[in-house]
Amino acid sequence: MEVKTMSQALQLHAQVLKLGNSPTSESHKILSNVFTFAALSPAGDLNHARLILKSNPSLNSYFYNTVIRAYSRSSDPSHPSQALSLFLLMLHGPFHNIPGPDKFTFPFVLKCCVRLNLTLQAKQIHGLIAKMGLSSDSHIGNSLIYMYSELEELGAAYNVFDRMSERDVVSWTSMIDGLVDNDRPAEAIKKFEQMLECEVEVNDATVVSVLRACADMGALNVGKTVHKIVKERKLHGKGNVMTALIDMYAKCGCIESAWQVFNDVMDKDVFVWTAIISGLASHGQCKEAIDLFSEMEASKINPDEKAMTAILSACRNAGLIIQGYNFLSSMQKRHGVRPTIQHYGCMVDLLVRAGLLKEAEEFIDKMPIKPDAVLWRTLIWACNVYGDTTRAKRLMKHLGLQETDADDGGSFILASNVYASDGKWCDKAKVRELMKQKGLVKPAGCSRIEVEGVIHEFVMGDYNHSEAKKIYGKLNEMVDKLRKEGYYPKVSDVLLEVDDQEKANQLLHHSEKLALAFGLIKMSPDSEIRIVKNLRSCEDCHEFMKLVSRVYQRDIIVRDRIRFHHFRYGDCSCKNYW
Ligand code: ZN
Ligand code: ZN
Repeated sequence: MEVKTMSQALQLHAQVLKLGNSPTSESHKILSNVFTFAALSPAGDLNHARLILKSNPSLNSYFYNTVIRAYSRSSDPSHPSQALSLFLLMLHGPFHNIPGPDKFTFPFVLKCCVRLNLTLQAKQIHGLIAKMGLSSDSHIGNSLIYMYSELEELGAAYNVFDRMSERDVVSWTSMIDGLVDNDRPAEAIKKFEQMLECEVEVNDATVVSVLRACADMGALNVGKTVHKIVKERKLHGKGNVMTALIDMYAKCGCIESAWQVFNDVMDKDVFVWTAIISGLASHGQCKEAIDLFSEMEASKINPDEKAMTAILSACRNAGLIIQGYNFLSSMQKRHGVRPTIQHYGCMVDLLVRAGLLKEAEEFIDKMPIKPDAVLWRTLIWACNVYGDTTRAKRLMKHLGLQETDADDGGSFILASNVYASDGKWCDKAKVRELMKQKGLVKPAGCSRIEVEGVIHEFVMGDYNHSEAKKIYGKLNEMVDKLRKEGYYPKVSDVLLEVDDQEKANQLLHHSEKLALAFGLIKMSPDSEIRIVKNLRSCEDCHEFMKLVSRVYQRDIIVRDRIRFHHFRYGDCSCKNYW
């Protein structure tokens, strides 16, 4: 008979117990029904399943694997470790009549190691798998790739992948996904290309992973190829694929194509809406973003946390303070979404960009949740930009630089900049020294440009490129031309104790300018130049791009850490507000 509720299961279990110690095939069947219900049904009770195992230790491995699987998937944070203790029991099994682990046990156990972040134990279990001769099982191989990339052990993941005798779509996708997760999008794209060469059929998960890599890199041409594959393989009915396509086009600077994809989606879920709304927001098309948000509400799709972040970013990017306040204050009541630190962060960013430093500080003080270092940094950074050094220095205590667990490079850089703009070179040097002791380094600014399907990467003052000489020559030519148009390097931005000529040189060698010069050399005069930068652009680079767009009559599209800048005829789409 079929078990439908837990109380029914308990009743049946009691019946079996009454039958006593002589297990019949009938009682075994009832017990296994009760067990399956308790372990697998959403209305079941995992503790009861565990109890059945305890009182019948000789049940076969299927029973153990079922409970381990349920533990590995459970949202209860204590469950993964319970799965591992059950697994240990199986390892010592033979002494207690308990079955040993088999090939179905390991994938779930590995998943628990990931959830508990147990790298060492994971490696030991891998050793055991090898000893048991299960390494060639493709399901276990895929789980190992997943596990190693989640634990940020990419070398080990590559090793497993390379040694597999048979790689299916899951193996390739796990490898690609792991590379994207570990911030190695270029390698992810390479793996995808190899996968196509090996004629492995791709599925929606593969496509979503590689589109994420394209979005990270700003690799538009690869992204377009993937779009073609989506059409050929008829994957465009999948919401996750369409969301990834919209996101890819938006992040590669093609908001029109993102629009087209969005319009083609028949059943738009909240993720599809959010992708286009945040795309529009990052492109400065904030009115359109807000209109779409209303349209989404009208079509009875309830926004989630991410959708609220998207709409608040739209308000931030357009400086819409009142709308921002309205969205933030109504989100819980209207949509049942409790504001998180991200949402409050958007609001603080919005206030400080408008120069409302006092309001921003009061806003943080009144917040119902504890502000994090990122929030304080946003405010202090703005105080520095607006020259309110007194406030900046007063707020510095919130960065917790002296605390032993302060491991955030960003806070230190900010502090040293505050001291530098205050002319306190000595304090600045102290902060830098503290950073050195803690082994913190400033994240390097880095810009990427795609030319004929190849991504070229530049860091500040880069001489590693094979055409470096030409690039620097081009830069000098550009500066001469721009100077005639009134360009003057904004040397006050360089917070270093060097003379103005050296400061001007430093500015000229910022990574986005190198990428721009390379683009001008390599790309046909009618093509747009697209650059992806990992940090926010400085004011000088912004002005430089504007002038180049006019003097060289080029469309330049720069994506920085938070938004897009479309430079055309000497103007920028952000209206100098970023
Ligand atoms: Zn710059
Ligand atoms: Zn701009």
